Amino acid sequence: MFSYLMEKILKFGGTSCGSIVSIQSVISIIESNFKAQTKFAVVFSAMSGVTNQLLEAGNLASKRKNTDNSIIEDIENRHFEIIKHFIPVTGQSQVIAQIRTLINELRDVLKGISLIKEISPKTSDLLVSFGERLSTQLIFSVLAQKGLPVLYVDARNLIKTNRNFGKSEVNFSETNPLIQQYFNENAHKICLITGFIGSNADGDTTTLGRGGSDYTASVFGSALNVQEIEIWTDVDGMMTADPRKVFAAFTIPSISYAEAMELTHFGAKVIYPPSLQPAFAKNIPIRVLNTFNSSFKGTIISRESTLSPYIITGISSIDHLSLVNLQGSGMIGVAGVSAKLFTVLAREKISVILISQASSEHSICFAIEPQVSEKVKEILYREFSAEIESGDLEGIDIQNDLSVIAVVGEGMRKHTGVSGKLFSVLGKNGINIVATAQGSSELNISVVIEQKDLSKALNVIHETFFFSQLKTLHLFLVGTGLIGKTLLAQLIGQERYLAKYKGLKIKLVGLANSRKQYIHEAGIDLKNAIEWLDSKGSTNDLNSFVSDLKQLNLPNSIFADCTASKDIYQFYLGLFHANVSVVTPNKVANSGPYELYAELHQTALAKGVKFLYETNVGAGLPVINTLQGLISSGDRFEKIEGILSGTLSYLFNSFVPGKSFAEVLMEAKKKGYTEPDPREDLSGMDVARKILILSREIGLKLEFSDITISPIIPRSCEMAPTVDAFFDELENQNAYFEDLVNRAHAHGHVLRYIATLEDQKITIGLKEIDSSHPFYQMDGADNVIAFTTKRYHDRPLVIKGPGAGAEVTASGVFADIVSLGSYLG
Ligand code: ADP
Ligand code: ASP
Ligand code: MG
Repeated sequence: MFSYLMEKILKFGGTSCGSIVSIQSVISIIESNFKAQTKFAVVFSAMSGVTNQLLEAGNLASKRKNTDNSIIEDIENRHFEIIKHFIPVTGQSQVIAQIRTLINELRDVLKGISLIKEISPKTSDLLVSFGERLSTQLIFSVLAQKGLPVLYVDARNLIKTNRNFGKSEVNFSETNPLIQQYFNENAHKICLITGFIGSNADGDTTTLGRGGSDYTASVFGSALNVQEIEIWTDVDGMMTADPRKVFAAFTIPSISYAEAMELTHFGAKVIYPPSLQPAFAKNIPIRVLNTFNSSFKGTIISRESTLSPYIITGISSIDHLSLVNLQGSGMIGVAGVSAKLFTVLAREKISVILISQASSEHSICFAIEPQVSEKVKEILYREFSAEIESGDLEGIDIQNDLSVIAVVGEGMRKHTGVSGKLFSVLGKNGINIVATAQGSSELNISVVIEQKDLSKALNVIHETFFFSQLKTLHLFLVGTGLIGKTLLAQLIGQERYLAKYKGLKIKLVGLANSRKQYIHEAGIDLKNAIEWLDSKGSTNDLNSFVSDLKQLNLPNSIFADCTASKDIYQFYLGLFHANVSVVTPNKVANSGPYELYAELHQTALAKGVKFLYETNVGAGLPVINTLQGLISSGDRFEKIEGILSGTLSYLFNSFVPGKSFAEVLMEAKKKGYTEPDPREDLSGMDVARKILILSREIGLKLEFSDITISPIIPRSCEMAPTVDAFFDELENQNAYFEDLVNRAHAHGHVLRYIATLEDQKITIGLKEIDSSHPFYQMDGADNVIAFTTKRYHDRPLVIKGPGAGAEVTASGVFADIVSLGSYLG
């Protein structure tokens, strides 16, 4: 029996051993365990990146490249830097000498590789063993110098494995007694153990597979029957998804071995999957903790997990895989083919990541690592040549650039509809499912998708299962003029309300104006958005902005065009194809050629995204929504009439007998109601665009050229060379305007600038109307619109109110964005 009862094994990963700051935390954690008189041992990985560097150095040496050995110098310097920081000058030379001895030995190995121009798996294992030996030696020296009773333990003396270099299997019956005996003999010491490495019966160095230091911890933990194994890493435990891919991922407080096994098997790198087995067998809990946030309780992996409040426990992914599909009539009901297939694959040591439920009976589909896809193709063509010849097998198809996502959780057994929810959310986001598989344990549903969609899919699935109450819309806003700025201010004001009452988060991911552009996937701080754009943004190039947006491929992406630009509409179609919705007050697209209008609408519909532009007519007034509602519910339009320009509305509401038209116009100009050249307003072009859009909304295929506009001002005013000359000419024509208004007044009428759509024709011009007309009573710069329809026949449906200005326009854009929340995701 043990004379020494071990309580814990701690394991520090590469990132925990990678820098001065992290090693400082490691020291504190070890010291506090020591002070608490815990009985513990510690396993270390190589400093972060070192294993890869060693493999690279070996590869270069085998090709006789990199003779200057800069990689090794870099490794050496990183270790020296730690020594210089933690060890007093007087003690440094001895420690430096020890590290140097190891480095020299390492250089000899590389020399050998370069001489024989070849690196065998056996040599490769010896080579990478230096990573753990160096880091453990280093930390040993630092702790010894601090006076801790530490002992350097080379795990090669205790972990015995088979000869399977690169990923050796542990011989527990030999290993366990060695470990137990060693700890009995060194009961009073804190053992510092090299992770990842062992040795075989011949005494050759072996390794336990990439990420294998976790396994070392588990091997020691189970041999010593500890109460707990602590895996110290660089994140807050095992999380609902890889935090590098899903920003919203959060810690899973408790998880079962089985669930952890599924998640890690499907790519959750936080713990090396085989490590779970020895701990599971002895029922030793594994705790995953953060070296950089050491007081956080992290994740406990144990036999019984406490019930998660969510249907699923976590999501993971394997980013690169290939899918092999065998099909042919010979497959129907022939168990032999699949038996032969998997026997062949096993014999060739090809590991199959998943086998998919084939959609048709005559195919078998399975996923493999892309590196072996060529080899698999070769093997299958060779082994199945007879079946191919006889026609039983039609072909072997290999699809590359795929990823698999696994949705894992014990809770799925109790809930139905998990896969339905999964497929539906992927479909809504335009993510094509190439294949699916469901584990028989009902612990895991896997979907194979195209690699380009991976990040989007992970995020959208995460959101659906963990934040179904809070949906994120990813907003890309172009235009920081009055409307854009006002929209930003409104978004800030409503942030909390939307989260609390609508379950909606609008995350600004991209911002651009005519000078600069900035994309920040984690979200741009709304309060500092303009400032960030100025300071962090790059020079505006909308092509790259849009292509970056597409590249990011975020779920529920929205492009808001809050500009008056005549060109940006050219991106809309491409955005729809990329499953991005467009929201805009910009009228250019909808009032352009009918063909463009139709193509935009049809594409948005086909791609399941939205094209929203309520603010094209009457700013924030619900004109287009009302119209679309009437059409959808089967009403028929007989007539649309509107005062659709705030400026012209103001002009004719103020132009009464006794006032000169020039005077009223000048007043409007001074108040900022008009364009710098008021003739742009008076031309009626803007009104024409609006009524044209409405005509298209009710199904008419009209073009701009079909519109008849009667001019407001005499031709001499139109022709005046300057704005001043124009006002002079307006004074000259005073009699003309006086006559107009007096005549109307004499009949008890008023003058209104009205756009009318009737009998499939659009006319725009000044009209005299009587007091029974709904436009008789008008205020300020209000817009008004009257729909006469089959249902609203005797009295039209009238929508009236402020129809211009940044505040109401931005709020219309905002409402469009919010409405997408209930549609998308
Ligand atoms: P160490 O160097 O400590 O062994 P690893 O890099 O091997 O650390 O594993 C930790 C990393 O695993 C994290 O930084 C994280 O990016 C990644 N990871 C992937 N999936 C998950 C997950 N579900 N939970 C936590 N971390 C994950
Ligand atoms: N250093 C080894 C690797 O990078 C083992 C580990 O970090 O767990 O794979
Ligand atoms: Mg690791």
